[in-house]
Amino acid sequence: MSGQENIQNESRAEQASPMDSFFQGNVKLPSPPVIAVQILDVVKKDDKSFGELARIISADPALTAKILKVANSSFYALSFPVTSIEKALSVLGADVLKNIALSFVIATEMRRDSEGGFDFDFFWKRSITAAVGAELIGKLVGFRSDDTFVSALLQDIGIALMYFCRPNDYLKVLEENQVSGRSIAEVEEQIFGFDHSTLGAEALRRWSLPENILEPIRYHHRVDQAPQSWQLATEVLSLSDKISSVYHGSRSGEKIREVNLILEQKYKIAPERIEALIDAVAEKSIEILSSFEIDAGDMRPFSQILQEANEELGKLNLSYEQLVMEFKQAKEKAERLAQEVMEANEKLREMAFRDGLTGLYNHRYFQELMDKELSRAGRYKRPFSLILFDIDHFKKVNDTYGHPAGDLVLKTFSAKVLKYSRTSDIAARYGGEEFAIVLPETDATGAKVMAERLRRAIEQTVTVCDGVEIRATISIGCITYLPELGVMQKAQIIEATDKALYHSKHNGRNRVTAGELGG
Ligand code: GH3
Ligand code: MG
Ligand code: MG
Repeated sequence: MSGQENIQNESRAEQASPMDSFFQGNVKLPSPPVIAVQILDVVKKDDKSFGELARIISADPALTAKILKVANSSFYALSFPVTSIEKALSVLGADVLKNIALSFVIATEMRRDSEGGFDFDFFWKRSITAAVGAELIGKLVGFRSDDTFVSALLQDIGIALMYFCRPNDYLKVLEENQVSGRSIAEVEEQIFGFDHSTLGAEALRRWSLPENILEPIRYHHRVDQAPQSWQLATEVLSLSDKISSVYHGSRSGEKIREVNLILEQKYKIAPERIEALIDAVAEKSIEILSSFEIDAGDMRPFSQILQEANEELGKLNLSYEQLVMEFKQAKEKAERLAQEVMEANEKLREMAFRDGLTGLYNHRYFQELMDKELSRAGRYKRPFSLILFDIDHFKKVNDTYGHPAGDLVLKTFSAKVLKYSRTSDIAARYGGEEFAIVLPETDATGAKVMAERLRRAIEQTVTVCDGVEIRATISIGCITYLPELGVMQKAQIIEATDKALYHSKHNGRNRVTAGELGG
């Protein structure tokens, strides 16, 4: 048969029975380790072969040491130390010892090729955790079998075999499982035509392992399809696989829920016992892993992982609160800044309407204000008054004391104006040494009272400049707009007020003249 035919035959065979081709094709399944075959052969005989089993194991000092370590571990909780294989045999029995030996032999053998994308250490770490788990679950659900440990340990041996024979295809399985989230078994079925549980069981059958070990393996991914006689053993394996995933998988929470659901509902196990079981799996696995010379890494009881996670969560919450606080502070700061900017803008806007020397409103603002006040008074039929005043002989002040002294007088008088006007009154520097005050809602009497009060206050004001006392008076003109006068122009009103002011000047200054509109 040529190579070509061989491939064609093989692919035809694969369609018909993919697993047969796997075993018969030019891919070579690793044979079981010699010592494993010897152990199995011996155990198949009768009890008289005890001595022979001890001899086979003792011939391998490394294996002997490992077995004694496990025999003395808390896993078997013996009340006295076991120092020889013979003693271990008499205490633990041939089946247990056989299974411990098999586990070591196979796990050691199948670890040699630990390179090329498949992490054998991780594979065995998972398997050993499952084996420990199965032993403990068995006790919890009342299932006693010396084969539980090795059966659980080898439940995924099919995975290792698939990788051994077709490494690239198997890496594809793992990749597809990672990318799509489809189950390993499903992807294996698609790429190989069968899954690892079927292959594992079949391989172990060819290695002459007993049904007790291989039948639960065959069904561990489909417990409900297992024949009645293997139901419980299969369930134990399936649960052990889930618990192992709690520690070595990415969906711990989901696996915990599945384990709880099955153990609580189907086997009526109390939640606290399940919790204790899951923790014990980690504690015992760490010990057993060291016997297998596999690093347990940061494996620790699930309750501890949970507690640590909660502490981390606490820290996270704390820093979240901190974050919120910082955000609040930042927000408040931003709001404060925005407020400051707004106020600064307001100030700027005001400055455009303010007179630089006196701080009173400037001429431009006065003009705007007059427009507003006039329309408001007209609309609501309300009175308002206007006062204009001019400092008397101000030129003389400048001439006598100097211009800066004159400035100081302007400032002092402006302050007085503010002091003697109501908050609703608006004072402006009309120009030079002339000022205006708009008095909303103020009739002629009110305006005259206000003007007179101001006149007297200014008269009594002393501006001290360089130790020199400066006094001055003002001449005032005032006008009152009454709604019955009808529509009036701003200029008319200002002009009338100005006229009144000059009336005061002509009549001797330092006095108030109430003018009349239209008069
Ligand atoms: P009257 O009583 O007739 O008003 O006499 P007066 O001297 O006050 O009038 P006049 O209009 O002749 O002079 C006004 C003076 O006011 C002239 C000007 O130098 C001065 N003056 C105007 N603006 C300012 C200013 O901002 N600072 C100072 N120091 N003086 C000013
Ligand atoms: Mg003047
Ligand atoms: Mg003047």
